[in-house]
Amino acid sequence: VERFDVFIVGGGGTGSECAFRLGETGRLKVGLVERDKLGGECNNYGCVPTKALLKAAKIVHGARRAEEYGIRIRGIEVDYPKVFERVRGIVWGMSKEGAAPFEKVGVRVFLGAEASFVGPHELSVNGERVGARKVIVACGTKPTAPPIPGLDEAGYWTNVQAVDPPRFPTSLAIVGAGPIGVEFAQIYSRLGARVTLLEALDRVLPPEDPESSAAIAQALEAEGIEVLAGARIERVEAAGESRRVHLRGGRVIEAGELLVATGRVPAFDALNLPAAGVEVDEKGKPVLDDRLRTSIPHIWAAGDATGDLLFTHVGTYESQLVVDQIAHRRRPRRDYRVVPKVTYCEPEVASVGLTEAAARQEGFDVRVGRAHFAGNERSVIEGETYGLVKVVADARTGEVLGGHIVGEGAGELIHEIVALMAVRGRVRAAGDAIHSYPTLAESVKGALLQAAVEPRR
Ligand SMILES: Cc1cc2nc3c(=O)[nH]c(=O)nc-3n(C[C@H](O)[C@H](O)[C@H](O)COP(=O)(O)OP(=O)(O)OC[C@H]3O[C@@H](n4cnc5c(N)ncnc54)[C@H](O)[C@@H]3O)c2cc1C
Repeated sequence: VERFDVFIVGGGGTGSECAFRLGETGRLKVGLVERDKLGGECNNYGCVPTKALLKAAKIVHGARRAEEYGIRIRGIEVDYPKVFERVRGIVWGMSKEGAAPFEKVGVRVFLGAEASFVGPHELSVNGERVGARKVIVACGTKPTAPPIPGLDEAGYWTNVQAVDPPRFPTSLAIVGAGPIGVEFAQIYSRLGARVTLLEALDRVLPPEDPESSAAIAQALEAEGIEVLAGARIERVEAAGESRRVHLRGGRVIEAGELLVATGRVPAFDALNLPAAGVEVDEKGKPVLDDRLRTSIPHIWAAGDATGDLLFTHVGTYESQLVVDQIAHRRRPRRDYRVVPKVTYCEPEVASVGLTEAAARQEGFDVRVGRAHFAGNERSVIEGETYGLVKVVADARTGEVLGGHIVGEGAGELIHEIVALMAVRGRVRAAGDAIHSYPTLAESVKGALLQAAVEPRR
């Protein structure tokens, strides 16, 4: 039995960060196991390939729109093999060093091996036993599909097929209009497929502020994506080479491929958590304390494995939290007050903190500021006028509670509000600051000033 001070399950962003940081201390014997590819979902099937595809989609869309700017481009063609080859190249470039950087800091890496617990301090790694004083579960998630009759028989894609399809479909139906569904809708539509985006709830990007949902739905529809919110799928069937999606009310959507993007749950299947005594709640999420410890104090869960806030940057934050406890005896509590979320379609959708409705629900005396990009001179110059900035502030203190931006570069702009929230700054102070002309950031200033109030004493 090989024994480790810390053994990490999962070599995605979260597990890799933990392994590297712990290895760097030079004081601990660290093991890392990955059954598929180092870099995990984000690098191989998630963030990286989708953002690379969105760039290709943006280029072709821009070329088609060039005429609006007085530039005529004839014969625009998408070379599908080249588009996906470029994406594979980017993914490869980010992971080509493999286990070497970890091994350099002394981490023992088990690649292509699956881990499962056999006891609280013991795991089986492809049949080999390893001992561990501490364990970090960073196994990520797997996609889930709703119980739609006929779905399994008809067959469907998840993000794994969608980032590297066997062949490009002429049409695509997407079930689920969360960030993943929305990004793929724009990728496939702009690259030339007819796309229908189906959402069971009453709007796209349901967790976002409803004004953001409305703005992005309008932009997606304007470029030819059919958005069906409140859609009830009754059944799905294969019809020759394509799939038929039957909606309540009788409408049938026929599409070459069907992509299901309705949510993800922690990938605990292979791990045999009961053997370690780790408790899982009824939703399949691990029961965790405010320092990410499971019900077994020497076992932590971090990143997507927690089942909440499925973002690479949250995984990185949580890695640091766990590493601090194990290597530096610091015991910070986790705090998710300021977590930015970005959907990288064009225009981007970004948010941080509370929506207006959530702030009211929490009992805040809310003050809202808004600025629409249609009134921003830079937006008009650029010809990109979709969207708005919405700031939610606490009327009593003047502090920012949340920010919501739909627009060009919203994923970058939101960080003005991120920084302001981090320091618990006042909307007035930031809104009074001089912002460059002509920038989209002037709309952030405008929204901040509109939300500004003199604090009551
Ligand atoms: C299409 C898509 C787009 C996304 N875009 C973004 C984005 O733009 N920005 C963003 O912040 N987030 C994005 N995400 C989310 C992001 O990918 C995740 O938050 C991130 O990958 C979480 O990292 P992780 O290390 O916690 O889990 P993962 O990346 O899932 O890594 C877990 C690893 O553990 C391995 N594993 C699991 N069980 C075992 C076992 N028993 N033994 C051995 N190995 C095991 C898996 O093979 C996997 O490699 C996207 C996700 C998807 C699906």
